[in-house]
Amino acid sequence: MSLFKSTLKQIQEAAEIMKLDQDIVTVLSHPKRVLQVSLPIRMDSGEIKVFQGFRVQHNDVAGPFKGGIRYHEQVDMEEVKALATWMTMKCSVVGIPLGGGKGGIIVNPKTLSKRELEQLTRKYIDRVQALIGPDRDVPAPDVNTNPQIMAWMADEYMKLGNLNKNGVVTGKPLHVGGSKGRDEATSRGGAYVLSEIAKERGIKPENTKVIIQGFGNAGSHMARILAEEGYKIVGVSDSKGGVYCEDGLDAPCMIKCKTEKGTVTKCETMYNHCESLSNEELIEKDCEILVLAALENQITEENADRIKAKYIIELANGPVTPEADKILDKKGIAVVPDILANAGGVTVSYFELVQNQNNYYWSAEKIQRRLKPIMVNAWKRVAEIQKKYHCTLRQAAFISAMVRLEEMLKSRGFE
Ligand code: GLU
Repeated sequence: MSLFKSTLKQIQEAAEIMKLDQDIVTVLSHPKRVLQVSLPIRMDSGEIKVFQGFRVQHNDVAGPFKGGIRYHEQVDMEEVKALATWMTMKCSVVGIPLGGGKGGIIVNPKTLSKRELEQLTRKYIDRVQALIGPDRDVPAPDVNTNPQIMAWMADEYMKLGNLNKNGVVTGKPLHVGGSKGRDEATSRGGAYVLSEIAKERGIKPENTKVIIQGFGNAGSHMARILAEEGYKIVGVSDSKGGVYCEDGLDAPCMIKCKTEKGTVTKCETMYNHCESLSNEELIEKDCEILVLAALENQITEENADRIKAKYIIELANGPVTPEADKILDKKGIAVVPDILANAGGVTVSYFELVQNQNNYYWSAEKIQRRLKPIMVNAWKRVAEIQKKYHCTLRQAAFISAMVRLEEMLKSRGFE
């Protein structure tokens, strides 16, 4: 099943539970606009190579379309449509005045030189510039895109005549209009939700083993934050594989090693009793909390039954399939869904946009002070809905989002 079909299934399921007006389901099941672009680049070898790019604008009833751009060899239109739809839901779960969008380029950026990467990034903005802008559609980082890429995007957009519009993308470096706390925002937001759950259910960090799949921006910050809160990190992985250590891993050490050696798999020699294992093996190991911070479709009907964690935190988008959701639910494993767990990222992107538009910048403390209540309230609302309907957290998060979207769509009209 395509990722977009899974997304439609999630919408349909939640809609049935809440008895949502079928017209709203129909509108939310179709992106408002999709765009595919060809991106010819002169490679260092002298040849011209044409890459394919996408931008999907799912819904903007709440405000400008908002969502990241991923650079990945396997990205396709169906995937980007799913990711854009989740962005609409995500912004609505946390109640920020933004809609949902997403973009992508079919490329493995690790195979490009810095010059090629810059050319490709600038070309993408040239191609989509008519559709984006701080009041229209605001891209951001996602898988394999980073602050440097955002800086090129903003620069290219402004070069095209849009003076002082650096709010066209978020996730920029601090010195060119980025926001404090944006780098760790996805993880910080997930950690705020986890703290609430821990408080409600008496989870003691020092007795709680955590495995983190994925050690990119979200995974590595999550490892640091949870270690600071006293959790015992027993396993981590990246695209090259993972390490598991009963006695616990030292998060700052792992981060340092990842930065220096490029992969956590080269860090295991630093520990005794450490096991090297694959990504698939790692997520089945013993732990209380499993943080999924890599890619989609990691837990499927094939491996769901072997998951031992009690809680799954989805920092990645779509790491658990709808079929796996059912199996995990039967096993009593709570899945804190992506549209809630990783919404801290887009929330601080919203703060960045607000700061850019006012040309006035906030302290790191202010960012945290404003992010926390948004995440905590979003969690409380979802938890209440879950109790009311006796449903999963994912269904409750979709209901929470769609209640708001329905109000907005009905007030504004959508025909
Ligand atoms: N790519 C991130 C996400 O999936 C962030 C999006 C944003 O900041 O706009 O939520």
